[in-house]
Amino acid sequence: MFDPKPDNPVSSGLSYVAPGACIGVLGGGQLGRMLVQAAQSMGYKTAVLDPDPNCPASPMADHFLCSGYAQEEGLQALGGLVSRVTTEFENVPAQALEHLATRVGVSPSGACVRVAQDRVLEKNTIKRCGLPVAPFHVIESSKDLTSVPHDLFPGILKTARLGYDGKGQVVVNSAMDLQAAYAQLQQGQRDQALTCVLEKKLPLWAECSVILAREPNGQCVHLPIQINQHHHGILFSTTVFPGWVSPQLEEQLQTAAQTLAQSIDYVGVLCVEFFILLSPPNANTPTPQSSTLNWVINEIAPRPHNSGHHSLNSCSMSQFEMQLRVLVGLPLNSIRQHSPCVMLNLLGDLWLDPSPIREHQSTDPVEPDWSRVLALKGTHLHLYGKEKARRARKMGHLNITGSTPEEVESTVAQCLSLLGLGAMGLGVASALHGSVLTPHRETQGNP
Ligand code: ADP
Ligand code: MG
Repeated sequence: MFDPKPDNPVSSGLSYVAPGACIGVLGGGQLGRMLVQAAQSMGYKTAVLDPDPNCPASPMADHFLCSGYAQEEGLQALGGLVSRVTTEFENVPAQALEHLATRVGVSPSGACVRVAQDRVLEKNTIKRCGLPVAPFHVIESSKDLTSVPHDLFPGILKTARLGYDGKGQVVVNSAMDLQAAYAQLQQGQRDQALTCVLEKKLPLWAECSVILAREPNGQCVHLPIQINQHHHGILFSTTVFPGWVSPQLEEQLQTAAQTLAQSIDYVGVLCVEFFILLSPPNANTPTPQSSTLNWVINEIAPRPHNSGHHSLNSCSMSQFEMQLRVLVGLPLNSIRQHSPCVMLNLLGDLWLDPSPIREHQSTDPVEPDWSRVLALKGTHLHLYGKEKARRARKMGHLNITGSTPEEVESTVAQCLSLLGLGAMGLGVASALHGSVLTPHRETQGNP
C-alpha cells in the first residue's frame, strides 16, 4: 500500500494509511500544534521538526526533532520515522519537501510551496490562471526604483519573500518616498539587491478568505467564506455568518480558489486571501477599479490559516482535520457550518496591557483571567502554550459561537470589553451589517 522506495515518489498518490501511522510536520508553531492535536484525536502518531525546542507543538508531538529545515540529518531522521509529511508554514525550503517526497508521501508539494514563498511568482501564477491581482511592479534592485509607474502610488512596498503579519511592508505615498522605503526594507539584509513588489494600495471594503482542501484526484471541499479584519497588518478577527456574503460572491470566490488550486495541481489545504474592492453603498468615493474588478486575490497560504481557526468550533470538520485527511488518504466529506462564529486573535498585548481581566499593574506579562470570558455562553479558548508573551505575538484565539449572528455579536461585544479591546469593535462586521456583501453589477467580466 505504502511504497517508500526512493525512486518512486508517492507525493501524488497519498493512498490510505491507517491510524497508528506517523505523520511528520515541518514546523512546530501553533498550526503544527493544532494539526498534531487533530492527528492524535484520530489515532495517528506525530513527529514534529523545528529548530526551536520550546515551540508550541514540541510538548504534544510523539517525536520531536530539533533541527533546521535544511539540515540533511534532521530531514533524514524525519523521513525514517513517518509515512507522510506536511508543513505548517510556507518558508520551509521547497527542496526539503522535494527531498522528503522521494521517500514518503508529501503534501503540499515543494513546487506549490515555492509559489507561495515568492510574491512575484505567486502574483504571476495567479495572473496566468486568469484571476485578478492588485496592480504591481517588481523591483529587483535600486536601479528599478525609477521605472515604477506613477499610478501605483500610494502603494505598499513588500519584500518578495519572508513577509508575514504585515512585516516586510512599508506604505509608500509617493514616488519621492520610494527610495527611503526600499532602504528601510534593505536594513539588516545581507543581500543589497532585495527583490520587492510595489503594489497599488487599494481601497478595501472588506477582506475575505477561502480555505479549501484538495485531494490528489482533484476532489475539493471548502470551509464557508470568511470575512477578515486586520489591525496593523495582523488578523484581528474573522467573522463567519451564513448569508453575510451573497451566494453569488461566495461562489465566485470559491470558484476562483478552486481554479487556482487546480491550475497548480495543489494537493492539501490551501488558503486564498481576497480583497473586496466594492464601494460600500452610498460611498461617494468609488474605487478606481470598480468598473472592471470588484475583487482581487491578495495572496495564498499553502496550509491551514489563521482565518480558518473558527472551524474548530463552528464546522463539521476543522481545517486541521482537512489537512490530516488529505495527508492520510481519507475522503473529504463536504463541510457543514453548524454555528455562526467570530474568531478573535489573542495577541501578547493582552498579557501586558491593563484590562478588566488583567488588572494587575506590572510590566511583566501576566496571564489574563480567562474565567470571566469563559463564563460567557459560546466562548471557546485556544491557547498555544507559548512561554513568553510579546506584543503582536499570537498567543491563542477565542472562538465565539451562538445560535444566531446577533447572539454571537452580543457575546463578542462583552468579550472585547473584558479584553480591554472595546474600542476596536468588529469594524468590518458592523459595516457589513444589513448590507450583505454582494458583487458589483459592473463586474460581469470577473472570472
Ligand atoms: P502578510 O503576508 O503579512 O499577510 P499581506 O500582503 O496579506 O501580507 O498584507 C497584510 C494586510 O495589509 C492585508 O491583509 C491588508 O489588510 C493590507 N494590505 C496589503 N496589501 C494591500 C493593498 N495592496 N491594498 C490595501 N491593503 C493592503
Ligand atoms: Mg496576508
